[in-house]
Amino acid sequence: MGLFSNLLTFRGGIHPPTCKERTNHGRIEVAPPPSRVIIPVAQHIGAPADVVVKKKEKVKRGQVIAAAKGFVSAPIHASISGTVKEVGPAYSATGQRVECVTIESDGEDAWLEGLLTDRPDYMELPPEELREIIHNAGIVGLGGATFPSHVKLAPPAEKPIHTVILNGVECEPYLTADHLLMLERGEEVVAGLRLIMRVVGAKEGVIGIEANKPDAIRHLKELTKGDPNIRVATLQVKYPQGGEKQLIYAVTKKEVPSGGLPMDLGIVMNNVGTAVAMFRACRYGEPLTERVTTVTGAGIVTPRNFLTRIGTPFGELTELCGGFNGAMGTVINGGPMMGIAVPSLDVPVIKGTSGILVLAKEELPPREYEPCIRCGMCVRGCPVQLVPSALSDYGETRMLDELEGYNIFDCIECGSCSYVCPSKRPIVQFIRYGKREILAERQKQRDRQAAREAMAKTAEVAA
Ligand code: SF4
Ligand code: SF4
Repeated sequence: MGLFSNLLTFRGGIHPPTCKERTNHGRIEVAPPPSRVIIPVAQHIGAPADVVVKKKEKVKRGQVIAAAKGFVSAPIHASISGTVKEVGPAYSATGQRVECVTIESDGEDAWLEGLLTDRPDYMELPPEELREIIHNAGIVGLGGATFPSHVKLAPPAEKPIHTVILNGVECEPYLTADHLLMLERGEEVVAGLRLIMRVVGAKEGVIGIEANKPDAIRHLKELTKGDPNIRVATLQVKYPQGGEKQLIYAVTKKEVPSGGLPMDLGIVMNNVGTAVAMFRACRYGEPLTERVTTVTGAGIVTPRNFLTRIGTPFGELTELCGGFNGAMGTVINGGPMMGIAVPSLDVPVIKGTSGILVLAKEELPPREYEPCIRCGMCVRGCPVQLVPSALSDYGETRMLDELEGYNIFDCIECGSCSYVCPSKRPIVQFIRYGKREILAERQKQRDRQAAREAMAKTAEVAA
């Protein structure tokens, strides 16, 4: 059996050009610490963290500058040492204006005293303690989902976990950060997988990698040789192979039910970068203050992969790549399929920034789009078996009941439908708009109900 026989996959999906060749042969370069970082307090799914530092306060790298607010939240740490210059709203890489802490470097790049350690016996710590370390280190899903990791690692007792899947697929075109991480820090990837298996009590570990990374597949197979509990699964090159439900189906042939979670099947999934961050937190006491990010695209002079500090302005990294090739088109936080265009180069790298993609002007999609011609290409490409043409029509006309009837919340916003649509319809934008409107409508109904109940109570007291 060859390395690539019996490739695993899911139903649906598309084959966009992978465009990874400009950065998949290089190395991860350590970007110099920036002179200023802008650190948003909302970098994860869940409640934004609460700022705990003040303007003019001196901070050290690794110091908590915003504390987690509730269980589904994560603390935020200073990524350089220096002085807090500003606490207030600024644009994040998500395109939203959120509370940020701006730190000006003191040039020392000093860690908080007593933070770093070396704990070779970390695997002997009880699972609860390891989970606590991961929580305190502010670790969230680094593949872009940014879900707080400690929550994923705390399944309820009635949902025992038997398998941990590490996602090393990196199916987004252009991005190569995870690929290089698996090559250069393969030992840490495997250590992270074993750590997660210990925390959730799983017996089996799987590392899923697309077949277009044969060197990473070989390397991780070599590193896990002789371990009967860990295997490397080679996956067909297809988008979105790295989607959570798609990868679970490809590896196990089991479907996560609509509205369900991987833990319903006894599975926990994490990105390879997240596994490395968890390992480094438990072994060395490092909170999450840096990540690997691909800076690439036809619009950039020398695409590269950087280990860069959270909070680094995009513009500093594009400068390190030699600037732009001619007139700049669009700058995207993430890849071309699921990424979001940013409003300026001042926005910072956040925990979920897997890539910075600079598209040249001629690569931009047309602004004009045509009516749907019912060709069905979007339906064939949808990995979740939805009807994107209907979601697009109903989203455009704000028909909210119909959108719910077509299971709009199962859409993973992978962009496959928009990519194949010959009418160039911005289907994902219509879907995002539809989801937002439905959620806003639900909130309005809750507010009305609360107001009715309050009025009824007041009337009761008055009577
Ligand atoms: S409808 Fe959603 S899940 Fe289906 S292809 Fe479009 S973006 Fe992807
Ligand atoms: S791909 Fe575009 S034109 Fe074809 S059915 Fe879907 S929305 Fe309509």
